[in-house]
Amino acid sequence: MKNIIGFSISEPQESKDYDTVRRENVPAVRSLVSVRFPDRGMALTYYNDLFDLEEGDFVFVSGKLAGKLGIVEKVTTRFKINLADYQRVISKATGNIRGSYESILDKMVSFDSEAMTPDEFRSWILPPKGWDKKEGEPEDEIILGDGYELLIPELEQDDDVDRAVLERAFDYCREGKVAYICVHGGTGTAFIEGTEWYEVNFMLDGDSMTEMYCDCPYPGLCKHMLAVAMNLRALIPNFKVSKLDDFVAIDSSRLWNMVAHTTKKITL
Ligand SMILES: [Zn+2]
Repeated sequence: MKNIIGFSISEPQESKDYDTVRRENVPAVRSLVSVRFPDRGMALTYYNDLFDLEEGDFVFVSGKLAGKLGIVEKVTTRFKINLADYQRVISKATGNIRGSYESILDKMVSFDSEAMTPDEFRSWILPPKGWDKKEGEPEDEIILGDGYELLIPELEQDDDVDRAVLERAFDYCREGKVAYICVHGGTGTAFIEGTEWYEVNFMLDGDSMTEMYCDCPYPGLCKHMLAVAMNLRALIPNFKVSKLDDFVAIDSSRLWNMVAHTTKKITL
């Protein structure tokens, strides 16, 4: 059943001025920032020369806490440091959460062109790709043969689909681990939270998924791809628009969590 709750943060009263949007258009301000890591219960100091940071911004850093999302809790521009003593802020989660979303199953779905892009979603879960890559280091590249085609309504009958993997994919769906799916012009991107975050890319044409790619090490059709297929199978029949329309679907609790962290930056 579809439940339209008219969630829209592009309404004038809600989006008068997102600081983050405005600030992202202004030059970086060098600062020394204290960053708290909630799941570690500690705050450490980092050097920032990439962003104009403010208290409450969510950031990724270099060093031993790389990959952990931290919250800026103090910013100072009055400092003199030896750069070698400090790790750095390497990315900042986007505050740009806009568009109208409606609740469909366990997802918030938007058909707006201004809905959260894959890059914007990634900024909340992962540091930028390759930020710690050493010079000359070869990049992992996982390629899946073009022969695979998933017919979404018939996953259970597909000879290429391993039953045990399909069951794990079902668990992933049930546990809300398919955090984000975007389909734009037939090209799909999804983020799945497994033991690590994995990105699945695919083409979607009607009920058919092709050109699938997942950055996990599993050979063949992995649980991440199948979990995305299962999510699409559940979601798309509930769309009131044509299934080929572009859309973004974000796990509901995750989206609300992001909104809760960004709305406090609204300037009224
Ligand atoms: Zn995978």
